[in-house]
Amino acid sequence: MAGECIHGFAPGTCLICQTLDPPKGAKPTKAATRAAKIADPRPGGQLEPQSGPRVVPKAAPRTGSPAVLKVIGVAVAVVIVIALAWAALHLVFAVLHIVELIGVGIIALYLGWVAGVHHGRKLAKAPRK
Ligand SMILES: [Zn+2]
Repeated sequence: MAGECIHGFAPGTCLICQTLDPPKGAKPTKAATRAAKIADPRPGGQLEPQSGPRVVPKAAPRTGSPAVLKVIGVAVAVVIVIALAWAALHLVFAVLHIVELIGVGIIALYLGWVAGVHHGRKLAKAPRK
């Protein structure tokens, strides 16, 4: 219909159109100002006086992301270390359990052998009927 924007609202009331295409002379939003500052970090419109390699202006917009990556990397490293320690601990306990089973088996073997020898001597000394 006539008098509507492409979104179907009356002109001047559509928030989408106001956001995407602000009227001339309107005050730019804070986000737009921040984006402009990030795009051009040099203050006061100094365009050409900087000579030599532009290390600072290129590195300036990337503040924050390396710190986040560092935190994520440290967290991942801590998780990996904990998992490895957990696995090593369980491996040690598994080996100890095997050693324990072998020890119990040896003790049971010795006790059974002693009992069998004692029983055999008793049988040998007993008078036969
Ligand atoms: Zn619209």
